[in-house]
Formats: sequence, structure tokens, C-alpha cells
Amino acid sequence: MNDCLFCKIVAGEIPSERVHEDEQVIVFKDIYPKAPVHLLVVPRLHVASLNELAPEHDRLMAHMLRLLPELARKQGLADGFRTIINTGPGGGQEIFHLHIHLLGGGRLPGF
Ligand code: AMP
Ligand code: ZN
Repeated sequence: MNDCLFCKIVAGEIPSERVHEDEQVIVFKDIYPKAPVHLLVVPRLHVASLNELAPEHDRLMAHMLRLLPELARKQGLADGFRTIINTGPGGGQEIFHLHIHLLGGGRLPGF
């Protein structure tokens, strides 16, 4: 856990462009944005991926989901937005600290 990049960002040891923080999560801009708006919603608690979720994380997960439309609104994404959670190497996950991508602000490619 000590060499987890997102834990270091949560701790403020590595800089990030934060747009929101509360007692459960921080939200910052992705360093390699894939859309005009590309945020990462990251829990302060280290949970590696969806595979490691347990019932004790239910409140946290509900908070993360309910935060998304509020963040999108504040970013001016009136038309809508895309959310992505990559899980495991097969899902394209590169950083093993759970996070939700929030994307929008341009024509996103079809899926
Ligand atoms: P994932 O592939 O779902 O694990 O996504 C990891 C995301 O973290 C990628 O979109 C990266 O561009 C992003 N990322 C990596 N390093 C940083 C960093 N130092 N600050 C902000 N975003 C980062
Ligand atoms: Zn971590």
C-alpha cells in the first residue's frame, strides 16, 4: 500500500489538481485527460479494485456514485457524462487503488 500512487496523492505527497474533497473521497483531474473533462473520484481508503469490495464499503460506494452528477453539473456537463471503472489487468486497470473516471465535455466515441 505504501507505494500506491493514489494513496500518495490522497496524502498530498504527490501533487494533483483537486476539484473536490470530503471526508471520504478526493476528486482530481486525470493527468492524461481523454476528454475535455476527465476527473478521477478516489476514496481516501485504499481499496485495490471492485474485486476487493466488502459490505463495509457500501456507504463509501453510494457516496461516490451520488457525487458523480453533482461533480458533472459543477463541470458544466449539462448534456451528460460517462463513468468508467476499470477492474484488473483484463479490464485495463493500471492503478490498483479503486477509482471512478468521470468524462465529458466533447463528443465521446461510441462504445
Ligand atoms: P486506470 O487505467 O483505470 O487504472 O486509470 C488510471 C488513470 O490514472 C489513468 O487515466 C492515468 O492517466 C491517471 N493517472 C496516472 N498518474 C496520475 C497522476 N499522477 N495524476 C493524475 N492522474 C494520473
Ligand atoms: Zn492506495
